[in-house]
Amino acid sequence: MREKEILILGGGVAGLSAGIFALKKGYRVTIAEQHNIAGGNLTGWNRNGFHIDNCIHWLTGTNKNSGLYKMWEELGALGDGIKVVKNEALYCYEKDGQSLSLWRSIDKTAKEMLELSPKDARRIRKFRRSVKNIMFINGIGGKKHNESGNIFNKMASLASILYFNRMSVVEYGEKFHHPLLKEFFSSLMGPDFSMAAFAFVAATYCGNNGDLPEGGSFAMAEHMIERFKSLGGRLLTRKKASKINVEDNLATSVTFEDGDTIKADRIIVTFDPKMLFGKLLDIKLPRPFKKIYESKAFKRFSSIHAAFAVDAADVPFKGTLVVDIPEDLQPVLKAKSCIVREFSHEKKYSPEGRNIIQTMIYMDEDNSKGLVALAKNRAAYRAKKDQLKAAQLELVERQVPALKGKLTELDAWTPASYARYVGSEIGSFMSFVMPAGKAPVSIGSRVKKVKNLFLATQWQTSPGGLPMAASAGKKAVETIEKTDKKRRNA
Ligand SMILES: Cc1cc2nc3c(=O)[nH]c(=O)nc-3n(C[C@H](O)[C@H](O)[C@H](O)COP(=O)(O)OP(=O)(O)OC[C@H]3O[C@@H](n4cnc5c(N)ncnc54)[C@H](O)[C@@H]3O)c2cc1C
Repeated sequence: MREKEILILGGGVAGLSAGIFALKKGYRVTIAEQHNIAGGNLTGWNRNGFHIDNCIHWLTGTNKNSGLYKMWEELGALGDGIKVVKNEALYCYEKDGQSLSLWRSIDKTAKEMLELSPKDARRIRKFRRSVKNIMFINGIGGKKHNESGNIFNKMASLASILYFNRMSVVEYGEKFHHPLLKEFFSSLMGPDFSMAAFAFVAATYCGNNGDLPEGGSFAMAEHMIERFKSLGGRLLTRKKASKINVEDNLATSVTFEDGDTIKADRIIVTFDPKMLFGKLLDIKLPRPFKKIYESKAFKRFSSIHAAFAVDAADVPFKGTLVVDIPEDLQPVLKAKSCIVREFSHEKKYSPEGRNIIQTMIYMDEDNSKGLVALAKNRAAYRAKKDQLKAAQLELVERQVPALKGKLTELDAWTPASYARYVGSEIGSFMSFVMPAGKAPVSIGSRVKKVKNLFLATQWQTSPGGLPMAASAGKKAVETIEKTDKKRRNA
């Protein structure tokens, strides 16, 4: 008999995943989500007849033979009837008239690197070998890597990870002679990540395991919501939790901003722990979290964006382009590179003959915090947002001259938009960077002082992201099951 009620606060990927796994284990489940739709960061929205995709650049786990695929299938995010879009390259980095792509084939990428810089041949070959080795870690390179991986492959993959984890993407780039290669590795994810994080992304993508579910972020969230509801889950929207009521080390109920109170046997919180402890809950931030939030190495980050409409025929590239931010725009945009995406692979995002261009510029913790604080002053924030929007337009027009005079503004958003929308402290949408020389963060689901309160958040691991959010949901349910079993057997 497992008919106990679980109340989940937050209907993002972590909340939906916890909900689906809990329903499969026989619990009754309610998700309370503050907005009118679930999905959290996994979302998109419409503007002037165009659809803006907020999230997926690559979804780890799209290879049918990977362990993560099975999880996405259980969650309804991938599987029968859901096509996976495979672009030719994950991104193309352009600098001073030259370009280099991370192609689906790591051999093709290495060949292009060698053509650019024969002087870097030894290091390029080592990079190619290491990415191939890393495909054997948890079979992220798909079937062959699970099945034909022997002890030597496993040892080689570990050696590659340990080597790459010693340095940041910037430090690794500095080992190359060619200017394009020097910056290729740090251009995609910003300068604070370890090279191991980049190598994982490359191994995932080149293992056909990091592609795009058709319909993008909004459709993926819809599929998960459908799965949750079809299993009998109850989704309450416009339900913002304001207080978790605790008596004798047990959470008895949750009070919501609309005045409602809902009782539950078990409660799972899925949003930023910084917004839970000392706020919704009268308990200080637990030490493992405090350490990580205050750490200088495990920084948080967010991003600024703009979206533009364009005639499809005017877009001179396919997929994702990464360009440098000219020096004179860096003091405004606070970064060195910008991701520029087009969406020709999603025909339904734009009217016939049209396309969308979206920019994404990572913003570090301090600058993100600054924008979130500024948003309290509406006029000042609006002026700043307009300045950022104009700078992004100028940047695209300068770095992709074919687009000059062709772009019509659709929208712009900042870390303050994320802070408002998903309620994270500094507008972060992932957790912490994976810095060089550090082991990844791993914090359990239990809340020490409240026996029936559990966490299913991406902030328990680094760097967060969709698979980690979904896995956090799964783990929280497994922890609840274990706790229940122990109690039944006691
Ligand atoms: C621009 C961008 C690009 C990204 N690209 C990728 C990518 O390519 N691949 C990848 O894997 N990941 C990517 N991510 C990250 C990914 O979107 C997140 O890791 C993931 O969606 C986090 O899910 P979550 O459920 O943990 O958190 P969230 O999405 O933050 O969900 C938390 C939910 O809780 C709700 N909530 C908050 N407070 C309350 C409250 N008091 N009461 C009720 N509800 C509340 C929020 O409204 C929200 O719905 C990207 C994100 C962004 C923004």
